[in-house]
Amino acid sequence: MNYESQIVKNISELIRRIENTCECIGRNPNEIKLLLATKTVSGENIKIALQAGYTLIGENKVQEIKEKFDTLKDIPHVKHYIGHLQTNKIKDILKYNVSCIQSLDRLELAEKLHSRLTFEQKTINAFIQVNTSGEESKFGINPENVIELAKQVAELNTVKIQGLMTIGLFSAETEEVRKCFQLLKNIQQQIITENIPNVKMNELSMGMSGDLETAIEEGATIIRIGTAIFGKRIYPDSYYWNENK
Ligand SMILES: *Cc1c(COP(=O)(O)O)cnc(C)c1O
Repeated sequence: MNYESQIVKNISELIRRIENTCECIGRNPNEIKLLLATKTVSGENIKIALQAGYTLIGENKVQEIKEKFDTLKDIPHVKHYIGHLQTNKIKDILKYNVSCIQSLDRLELAEKLHSRLTFEQKTINAFIQVNTSGEESKFGINPENVIELAKQVAELNTVKIQGLMTIGLFSAETEEVRKCFQLLKNIQQQIITENIPNVKMNELSMGMSGDLETAIEEGATIIRIGTAIFGKRIYPDSYYWNENK
């Protein structure tokens, strides 16, 4: 089977996984958006998935967004940023039509985004990324500081918080992974009761190729899938999740 048909087949298998999970717990599969995690995937190969009707993509590196921009510019899609964002890349992010930063994890980043957005007379959506696993290698703000950050970002009228994002613990122990997703849901509920102006909490971006069922069971509204669609990546994820690179 060529790579193109493999991608299409992988997507339909993935959709079946989503539907099966939803059926077991009585959720409507339409509540769950599939984000294609496209790091290392070429523009041409991303196109195959876009043409199959899945038009939400997430990139981890500004450099890759640049490289793929021309290939993808004529095909409708929505682009989120899901990697660690350095403040010196903000201008580029805005130039390449990223509509949502899922990895907002510190006030400094929100403030720098705000000043650039104000200058460009634009707004952007954002999710607060929470480190629910306590693993040092992962980005995200500590769970106990999320509400404070939400309140601070609420003051910046160009940055529109829509929800929360997390990367679950890498573990074969489903119940340990589940705790991460439950924690995210829990923080979401706390923020909702705070009723912060300018802060929406509709989205929970959680679940990847290995743990999407658990994430859906715990209330995910966006799952971010790379490997299960595009196959294994050559680079280890530490390449993407290490601040020094
Ligand atoms: C790579 C990546 C994913 C997708 O991971 P897979 O296990 O390949 O599905 C999801 N979220 C983030 C932030 C990623 O960097």
